[in-house]
Amino acid sequence: MKVLVINCGSSSLKYQLIDSDNEKAMAVGICERIGQDVSYLKHTPDGGEKVVIETTMKNHEDAIQMVLDALTNEKYGVIKSLDEIGAVGHRVVHGGEKFATSTLINEEVIKAIEECNDLAPLHNPANLIGIRACANLMKGVPMVAVFDTAFHQTMPPKAYLYGLPHEYYNSYKIRKYGFHGTSHSYVSKRAAEFCGLDINNSKIIVCHLGNGASISAVLNGKSVDTSMGFTPLAGLVMGTRSGDIDPSIIDFIAKKENKTIDQIMNLLNKESGVQGMSEVSSDFRDINAAMDSGNEKARSAFEVFVYRVAKYIGGYVAAMNGVDAIAFTAGVGENDHKVREDVCAYLGYLGVSIDLEKNKARGEEVMLTTPDSKVKVCIIPTNEELAIARETVALL
Ligand code: ADP
Repeated sequence: MKVLVINCGSSSLKYQLIDSDNEKAMAVGICERIGQDVSYLKHTPDGGEKVVIETTMKNHEDAIQMVLDALTNEKYGVIKSLDEIGAVGHRVVHGGEKFATSTLINEEVIKAIEECNDLAPLHNPANLIGIRACANLMKGVPMVAVFDTAFHQTMPPKAYLYGLPHEYYNSYKIRKYGFHGTSHSYVSKRAAEFCGLDINNSKIIVCHLGNGASISAVLNGKSVDTSMGFTPLAGLVMGTRSGDIDPSIIDFIAKKENKTIDQIMNLLNKESGVQGMSEVSSDFRDINAAMDSGNEKARSAFEVFVYRVAKYIGGYVAAMNGVDAIAFTAGVGENDHKVREDVCAYLGYLGVSIDLEKNKARGEEVMLTTPDSKVKVCIIPTNEELAIARETVALL
């Protein structure tokens, strides 16, 4: 079956058409600057050249129409007719406590997603616009919602409750939800296979280190803890997000600089992390280059990033009373050998021993540890679109 995977943001829409029979992406692309005067569609058919179309997309329905036109275009399309698309899989950021699994979309599900808007005010409304636009343009084609939070719904209360008065959980459902769930689920399963583990009897730590970054503890195939929280701001130091800080800092900065809460949240989400610390960039390629030329702030940001990852791994070894395998994934985890090497240097007490030659690998499944290492450490490239396509087919 051919599955159209849609990841709809407030002004962009990423898509892939995946053939579930061979699990290959037939075409990938993105619509950018939706709602602005000039919008772009960037479309790459498998094995073909990237096509960039400048146009105006008033809204997401226009964008999806452009995507459907591109997929069926005579020159750079990959299907003859839209009838070939068997289903649509939508990435939805927040499913709250309502969705512990992916779900076939109907009016009731749309309403339930709407009820989670409060929890992800920037993302869920955009996801819903994408769902509605597809429903209008592809009448009768089944659609599935795959939630970023769903995989982490197996966390026990001791992992997801905050030390706040209970009424805040009761009234507003303030708790840890965790994100990147589709990636943590996909990578943990693949890591178990790759390391020859029985997923039902395994302790796996997944380090999803991208621009956004999170770590999860996966016990017997189920998430039992993860580093992001009520929102994706918590946990690791990220590209531009601060990760965990003492909440009193917010009050302190507000008073010192006469800033509003909104301004400080913007600072913590967009101007902090590796970018804010280094004053160089949020991108690890730039950080590495700056470190090579002796930039001390870049080095310090790198060290803080790595140290936080190592501490979370240590915490999750404690949470699971051991670990069989640690998997690195996403942009930094798959590509940055120095991050992996420095994180593993903290893990000698676990009996982790990596082969520095193998650690030079990038973006492919590789076992990084030596045969005598007590814990296996590997790179498992994530593929959230494929995971969404698989979930979609499985549900149908
Ligand atoms: P997102 O959270 O946006 O999905 P990705 O998982 O695509 O992020 O990761 C993007 C990040 O990966 C970049 O910001 C950069 O820090 C890092 N990255 C990509 N390629 C490399 C590389 N060759 N070496 C080091 N870091 C890299």
